[in-house]
Amino acid sequence: MFEVNDIPPIDGWELQQLIAENVQHEEFLFFRFYAGDEQDYFGPDSYTKRYECFCTACRERFTEPHSAGPASKWRICPRCGRSVTPKRWAANDHAAALRKVSFAFHFFQVGPHGELWLTSCQVRMYPYFLIEKYTAFEYCRYVFSAAGAKKWSWQYDGWALRKNCTFRHWYDMGGGRRDDFWVLPSEQELAASALRYSQLTEAFAVLHDLTGYLALYCKYPAVEYLWKMGFGRWLQEREQGGGDYFRRLVNLRAKEPKKLFRGLGKADLRLLREKQPSVSAAAEYKRLKTAGVVRADDTGICFATSASIVRFDTLFLADRCGVTAPELRKYMEKQARRSAQLLPTLMQELMDYHDQLARMQIGGEKLPHDLHEAHARLSERERRLMNREKNEKFRTRRHLLAWMRWKYKGMFIRPVDSAEEIVREGEEQNNCVAGFADRHADGKTIIMVLRRCSEPRKPWHTVEIDPATLKCRQCYAAHNHKRTPEAAEFMDKYLDHLREVTKMIRRSA
Ligand SMILES: [Zn+2]
Repeated sequence: MFEVNDIPPIDGWELQQLIAENVQHEEFLFFRFYAGDEQDYFGPDSYTKRYECFCTACRERFTEPHSAGPASKWRICPRCGRSVTPKRWAANDHAAALRKVSFAFHFFQVGPHGELWLTSCQVRMYPYFLIEKYTAFEYCRYVFSAAGAKKWSWQYDGWALRKNCTFRHWYDMGGGRRDDFWVLPSEQELAASALRYSQLTEAFAVLHDLTGYLALYCKYPAVEYLWKMGFGRWLQEREQGGGDYFRRLVNLRAKEPKKLFRGLGKADLRLLREKQPSVSAAAEYKRLKTAGVVRADDTGICFATSASIVRFDTLFLADRCGVTAPELRKYMEKQARRSAQLLPTLMQELMDYHDQLARMQIGGEKLPHDLHEAHARLSERERRLMNREKNEKFRTRRHLLAWMRWKYKGMFIRPVDSAEEIVREGEEQNNCVAGFADRHADGKTIIMVLRRCSEPRKPWHTVEIDPATLKCRQCYAAHNHKRTPEAAEFMDKYLDHLREVTKMIRRSA
């Protein structure tokens, strides 16, 4: 097994070249006034006023006459023609510009035993740009071979072996997010390596975690057949949280391609390749096919896909309904044909329907003739049931508070009627009155509606009254606007009225 320092050496200049050839980033043209030189360093015409320039793209140091300026407007290097950002060649200016350029750089090397090494570097532009272009800090090393995969990351002052081979980003090291630049092995390099069949290029194109994938390949070389059989997408889904389904579907320990999918035949694989279901749908298809619920055809894939979308457990529900799983499938497909609903919707409805039966503890048909209609009916019934207790309280309160009704100048006020009304009031007026429903039902507060006699059903103002003192706690207009002047006048009169009533009550008490 390889150790961290078995990596083939690369010298600094070689690395600089590799980065320069493979990375695109902002380049700069530094300029400053050239005062002339007794040594005539820049040639015979140095007596004219000139700029002294340095281009980071071609790394040329040269002068240009002032007449070619102003240099601050140059967008292209006069020597190499590459696009550049002009910056004053003064410590603060050029240092700030150079500091902005940083990126992660990853490159492969083939070792003497055919093992493949990957090095990850944090690269910045070198502040002493005349000497070198980049400064590269190596933060991660990986090795892939028939003997397995290993990863090391730099910690404080040495390399630490990591347990996993998942790809490490610059930001995993505590920095910000940076662009990643890669140099993949060339075809010849790859062909000479132990990873010649790893489908590295295909994996690089679609996977987020190339190193994790290469480690998987080192462990289970059979994974190459997935690409060849057209199921590379499942590897993508595997790394995005579909690992469980992937494992149920694919047996990576297989030594030959036909054993990769235990339990699936040629017809199944042809169908899966043609329909390209997600890995979870394919795993569901395999489960249903094995259980004899679906056939290897379009409807089978459709059923499995629908079931996987809503997590419809066909076998479990069939058992609950007292039918066989194929019978349940036929029932669902028939429901889909007779209603305008899609299969996943109907599956969800059947599950809801059974939950409702259980919640309300009522016996009902396990597989109703018209599922969509039966579900709607039961939902309505449950809504009514759930509000019943509260509405009982509301009715009592309405009766108790009937004396608080009052009319004045074409407006009237009354206690709310029902839980539904208080919720509706909350929705239509977009204020928080719905939260008071329970407190009203329990007598801890009094919620009243103030309306115009001409529009008795249209929400206008909502009023909260303290039940102990009969003082107004809040008065809201729709959308929590301030109450209107006429409503204010109404409320003044109404509160006077209540004060009178209170006095009366106190007197008689
Ligand atoms: Zn240049």
